[in-house]
Amino acid sequence: MKIEIDESRCKGCNLCTVGCPYKIFQAGKKPNRKGVLVPLLDRPERCTNCRLRHLYGRVLCGVCQMTCPDQAIRFRDEKPGETVKVAIEY
Ligand code: SF4
Ligand code: SF4
Repeated sequence: MKIEIDESRCKGCNLCTVGCPYKIFQAGKKPNRKGVLVPLLDRPERCTNCRLRHLYGRVLCGVCQMTCPDQAIRFRDEKPGETVKVAIEY
């Protein structure tokens, strides 16, 4: 499982940077082509959904996705052969 931000939808409101308990979303620093400061992802493999959603078979957090007013955040499964990175924090 991976988190992605759809740059074509994101308007840089930074609500996701406030809500994530792991501070995975960090305020963007460089404007994109549309002048939007799209947040950066800091070690997204720490996300509870990315780590444990398959194991428990349900959404475990999803605050970022629920908060985003533009539906710019999505979770997707890795493609076959794509590296799966997992991080566990105590
Ligand atoms: S699902 Fe929760 S832990 Fe994962 S990135 Fe979103 S807010 Fe952070
Ligand atoms: S909440 Fe959505 S629109 Fe706002 S900065 Fe985050 S991804 Fe972009």
